[in-house]
Amino acid sequence: MHIHIFWDSLSPAGLQMPVARSISSVLGVKISVSENNVRITGLDMTRKQVDAQSLLDSIQAYKHRHGIDDPILLVVHQDLFRDGNSFVFGLARESVGAGVVSTSRLNNEYYGRRGSDDDFIDRIVKEGAHEIGHLIGLPHCQDHECVMFRPDTLDELDRKKKTLCPACRELLDQRLAVHLDQC
Ligand SMILES: [Zn+2]
Ligand SMILES: [Zn+2]
Repeated sequence: MHIHIFWDSLSPAGLQMPVARSISSVLGVKISVSENNVRITGLDMTRKQVDAQSLLDSIQAYKHRHGIDDPILLVVHQDLFRDGNSFVFGLARESVGAGVVSTSRLNNEYYGRRGSDDDFIDRIVKEGAHEIGHLIGLPHCQDHECVMFRPDTLDELDRKKKTLCPACRELLDQRLAVHLDQC
């Protein structure tokens, strides 16, 4: 399986390669990065946020139009929400292989702290690997240090490690083996 990361032009420049390399080593999957051509939809002017579900619709339509079967993860800078959540770090729709991550709340500056590219990259990697994990078929995990744990806060995100717990690792390997068979 090959994963595509679409890096939106307004997302932080220069971080896409280190992010892709690190996600690739966390999950053990091939990843390519390209500029984003998916239309950014779902902007809510009142909330100053983007509806993550609308963005997933947009990715789904793009994949259909271009006949792309492999999963796509879109990285945007806009803050995301979805029905029932005031914000989400990211969202994935496994059935169509579409995921999105927002960098909006992943930098220190958002929280009034001193900026750090290392922290920023770490968090995009954890969030990106988490959503791609869903696209490969992994559910949420109760292990607070596992990439597949669902964080509600930045502290919970920071407490996670850039690895899968043994159970999630085994499940991911099984899912990847199934995909291999289907090739
Ligand atoms: Zn999740
Ligand atoms: Zn786990």
